[in-house]
Amino acid sequence: MARLDAVIDGIDRTARLTGRTGDDVRLIAVSKMQAADAIMPLIKAGQRVFGENRVQEAQGKWPALRAAHPGIELHLVGQLQSNKAAEAVALFDVIHSLDRPSLLIALAKAMDSVGRRLPCYIQVNIGAEEQKGGCAIADMSALLRQARDADIPVVGLMCVPPADVEPAPYFALLAKMAREEGLPRLSMGMSGDYETAIMLGATDVRVGTALFGARAVLDG
Ligand SMILES: *Cc1c(COP(=O)(O)O)cnc(C)c1O
Repeated sequence: MARLDAVIDGIDRTARLTGRTGDDVRLIAVSKMQAADAIMPLIKAGQRVFGENRVQEAQGKWPALRAAHPGIELHLVGQLQSNKAAEAVALFDVIHSLDRPSLLIALAKAMDSVGRRLPCYIQVNIGAEEQKGGCAIADMSALLRQARDADIPVVGLMCVPPADVEPAPYFALLAKMAREEGLPRLSMGMSGDYETAIMLGATDVRVGTALFGARAVLDG
C-alpha cells in the first residue's frame, strides 16, 4: 500500500528528529466518507487504528469490518452530541472530542452503564474560532478537573488548528498546555501538517486524505 508506506515513512523520519521512533507515534487512519472497499486495503496492509467523525456513519460500516478483522481500534475524532454519548461509548475505543461539561456528564454516565472507561482527549479550540469544536483555552483546566472528578480517563489534548495558516504556533501552544497539566498525549496533525505536529510532540496523528486520496464530498 504505497500511500500507507509513505505516511509511515514520514512519521518515522520525523519522529527520529525528535529523539523518538515511528512506534512512539500512533497513526489514526481517518476513514470518514470512505466505503468499506476503500478501507479494506489498509486493513490488509496491517493498519489497525482508524478514526471516524460521525457516530452514525461509523455504526453503519465498522461492526461488519471489525467482525471480519479482529484487533481494530476505533477512535472518534469528530464532534459528539451528548445524546449520542451512549452509542459512541458502545462503538468506539477512544474519544478525541471531549469539550464541554454536558458531554462529560453524558460520557461518564454512558461509561458507568457499560462498565468500561474509554481514554479521552480534551479538544481545545486552539485558534479561538467561532463555529469550531473544542473548549476555550481558558476553560481547559476546569474541564480536566471535572473529568477527573467524574472518573473519565483524560490522556491528552487534541486540536484542529485554523485552516490555511501556519499550524506550528497552535501545535506548540497545545503541547505547552498538555505539559503544564502533566498530560502525556497530544492528538494533533492531519494530512497536510502531521510532520510539523510530530516535531512539536504529537503522539497521535489523524490522517485521512494522504492515505485514502481526496474525499468525494467536502465536509466540515
Ligand atoms: C477529517 C479529519 C481529519 C483528517 O483530515 P485529512 O486532512 O484528510 O488528513 C483529522 N482530524 C479530524 C478531526 C477530521 O475531521
